[in-house]
Amino acid sequence: MALGEFDLIGKYFTRSTPRAVLGVGDDCALLQPAPGQHLAVSSDMLVEGRHFLSTVRPERLGHKALAVNLSDLAACGARPLAFTLALALPRVDETFLAGFAQGLLALADQHGIELVGGDTTAGPLNICITVMGEVPPGQALRRDGARAGDALWVSHPLGGGIGDARLALEAFRGQISLPGDDFETVRRAMEQPQPRVALGLALRGLATAAIDVSDGLCGDLGHILRRSQVGAVIQASQLPLSPVLARQARPLQLDCALAGGDDYELLFTAPPDRQAEVLAAGQAAGVGLRCIGQLRAEPGLVLHDDQGGLQALSARGFDHFAG
Ligand code: ADP
Ligand code: MG
Repeated sequence: MALGEFDLIGKYFTRSTPRAVLGVGDDCALLQPAPGQHLAVSSDMLVEGRHFLSTVRPERLGHKALAVNLSDLAACGARPLAFTLALALPRVDETFLAGFAQGLLALADQHGIELVGGDTTAGPLNICITVMGEVPPGQALRRDGARAGDALWVSHPLGGGIGDARLALEAFRGQISLPGDDFETVRRAMEQPQPRVALGLALRGLATAAIDVSDGLCGDLGHILRRSQVGAVIQASQLPLSPVLARQARPLQLDCALAGGDDYELLFTAPPDRQAEVLAAGQAAGVGLRCIGQLRAEPGLVLHDDQGGLQALSARGFDHFAG
C-alpha cells in the first residue's frame, strides 16, 4: 500500500534539527537567528522539463534542488541556517523519495542547514525550496555596489571552468556529440552543481557586488550592471574553460561560457587593489577564481574578442541559443 502523506514526511523528511527551536511536525517551525543578524531568505522552484530532465537520478535532483537555493545564499554572503521543502509528487514512489532525500540531506549536512518544514501534495513533479541564512547587518553582498574600475571575477571548479552545464544540455538535446567520459563530466556539472557558500562568506567586506550565475554569465552580469549603473568589458581570452569545453569549437565555447546557465558559480566585482585578498579568499574556499574583465562608467557590456576587437553584447545577454 502506498505511504500516506504524514508517513512519507516522517520517513523521509523528518530529522533532528538541533539549531531550530521547533522543526517538522507543528504548524510552524520556530527559528532563533543569532542576535543582531539579518535573516537572508530566498526561494527557487524546479519544474520537471523546464529545470531538470526526467532522466536525472533522484539523488542528483535532491542535491540540485537544494544547491541552487544555497547558491543564492552564497551570492549574498549569508551563512545557511534552515530550509523548507514544498513538494508536489505525481505518485508515491519510494525509490524516488529515498534517493531524492538522500541527495538533498547529504548536501544539507555538508552545509549545516536544517530541513525545518514544508508542504507535500499530489501533482506534477515540482520542488520548491526556501532557504534562510544569517548575515551581519551591512555585510550582505548585493547587486548594486559595483563601481567603475572594479575588477570582474568569476569562480570555477579547480581544474575546470564555466559553461559545462550548458555543454551537457546541448549534448542531451543532440546538438553536439561528446565522447562518453566527457559527457559524464559535463553531465555532473549540470546535475550536481556545488554552491559556493564558503566563497560567499570569504567575500564579505571584499566584493563590492555579487550574483550567482544561473541564467548565463552575460545576462546575470547585466543585473549587476543595471543595479550598479555601470558598464563592463569582458576579455574572451580570460574565460576559464574546462578541458572538455576547451576541446569544442571556439564559437560554442563562447556561447556556453557567456550564455550558458546553470553554472552556479559566483560572479563578483572587487576593487583592483584587492586582488591578493580575492585570490586568498578563493584559496581558502577551495575554488578557482579568474579575473575576466573590468567595470567602467560607460554603460553596456562589451566583449574584447580573440582578435582584439570589441563586440557589443545586447542588454539581454549574449545568447546565440535563444530564439
Ligand atoms: P499544515 O496542514 O498545518 O500546513 P502539513 O500537514 O502540511 O501541515 O505538514 C505537517 C508538518 O510536516 C508541518 O510541520 C510541515 O512543515 C511538515 N512538512 C510537510 N511536508 C514536508 C516536506 N516535504 N518536508 C519537510 N517537512 C514537511
Ligand atoms: Mg501544509
